[in-house]
Amino acid sequence: MFHKILIANRGEIALRVLRAAKELGIRTVVVHSTADVDAMHVRLADESVCIGPPPSRDSYLNIHQIVAACEITGADAVHPGYGFLSENARFADILAAHKITFIGPSGDHIRIMGDKIEAKRTARRLGIPVVPGSDGAVTEDREAARIAAEIGFPVIIKASAGGGGRGMKVARSAEDLPIALATARSEAGAAFGDDAVYIEKFLEKPRHIEVQIVGDGAGKAVHLGERDCSLQRRHQKVWEEANSPALNTDERARIGGICAQAIADLGYSGAGTIEFLYENGEFYFIEMNTRLQVEHPVTEAITGIDLVHEQIRVASGGGLSVRQDEIKFSGHAIECRINAEDPRTFTPSPGTITHFHTPGGLGIRVDSGAYSGYRIPPYYDSLIGKLIVHGRNRVECMMRLRRALDEFVVDGVKTTLPLFRDLVGNPDIANGDYDIHWLEKYLAETA
Ligand code: ADP
Repeated sequence: MFHKILIANRGEIALRVLRAAKELGIRTVVVHSTADVDAMHVRLADESVCIGPPPSRDSYLNIHQIVAACEITGADAVHPGYGFLSENARFADILAAHKITFIGPSGDHIRIMGDKIEAKRTARRLGIPVVPGSDGAVTEDREAARIAAEIGFPVIIKASAGGGGRGMKVARSAEDLPIALATARSEAGAAFGDDAVYIEKFLEKPRHIEVQIVGDGAGKAVHLGERDCSLQRRHQKVWEEANSPALNTDERARIGGICAQAIADLGYSGAGTIEFLYENGEFYFIEMNTRLQVEHPVTEAITGIDLVHEQIRVASGGGLSVRQDEIKFSGHAIECRINAEDPRTFTPSPGTITHFHTPGGLGIRVDSGAYSGYRIPPYYDSLIGKLIVHGRNRVECMMRLRRALDEFVVDGVKTTLPLFRDLVGNPDIANGDYDIHWLEKYLAETA
């Protein structure tokens, strides 16, 4: 087991990882920027190292400073959290070269999944169902027209280097196609420095369903069921559930089994998420995230398995703590992402939290580094906490969520809490009847 873990992140996820390490009796080091001196994870860590000024590229993305902090403190492993360097293959390679363990997959696995075309090819080879489309990048308009005609309109043009929903364009007919291709290529070139694009069938009303997996790096892997993250705004998840209200037990076992087998065959090490669009009973792979995700607590709530413990165990060579047949799904869980943002326009609202009171009671978990008097710095993303509610079934979970949202107080800054109070009373949400476009439509209609 590791002696000391350095946490290369901030906010609620740094605290989350710190808690898991403490439970395992491992000492913790956090690195932080000058803007995060007063952060909760800095106060609770055994040691802290200030690695630079507020901008992320000078601190949380500064690989040299982080490696130096490991050497100064004698940390033998790094947990990257999510975002920042968590899917940076070079970072994983550099740590390996310094004999420091990256708590995550190998640099090579991160690289494969970081390239969307390569990821899709790999998924197909491993028996994971993918969206029909081009086999690789399309450079010629004529070739694009042939492929689009073959899979049928509408189609979506996506950037190979894509991320954050950028560089995507929908073409509804052959006439639309040349313009969609040209705009997608130029957006991709501008955003990612790589204008390679590929074509997929555009699904009209899919749900976003993702499968949580953990592999031991030696040919064993398990799945921990799925999460439904269809409630999104600008491709950003807002509300997540486990299990998905749309799947039955057979579908869950089938897609989970396919993913676990694929991950075992890949020899993948650590936690990861295989993301799908789901429509008319079919799953279509869109991408794999080779890290822990923001919404992982809903999976923990219904399985009782601590995913960060699993990540640490696997990375230290201790293997998985559970077999597939020991993983049981119990009840239902929902997560609401509490952002310091205007609940309607989603404009960030940094500032000082004058009063912070979290709900409690059975089935409630709040992951947050915020406290009364905490000043939210303007430099980073606006997530200030996550409310995760568990119930024996979806109805009980929703009742408890409504009560918890009423109890939650955050004064001094705007938050997305009022949006969740609206959503929890909405009949479509109550029925679990929504697709990936539902929230945008709802926001437009109620504006
Ligand atoms: P990114 O990495 O940029 O987030 P993804 O491939 O994960 O890109 O897609 C992001 C979102 O775009 C999906 O959650 C979905 O809302 C939409 N999307 C992607 N591919 C398709 C498709 N083939 N049909 C319909 N919507 C899609």
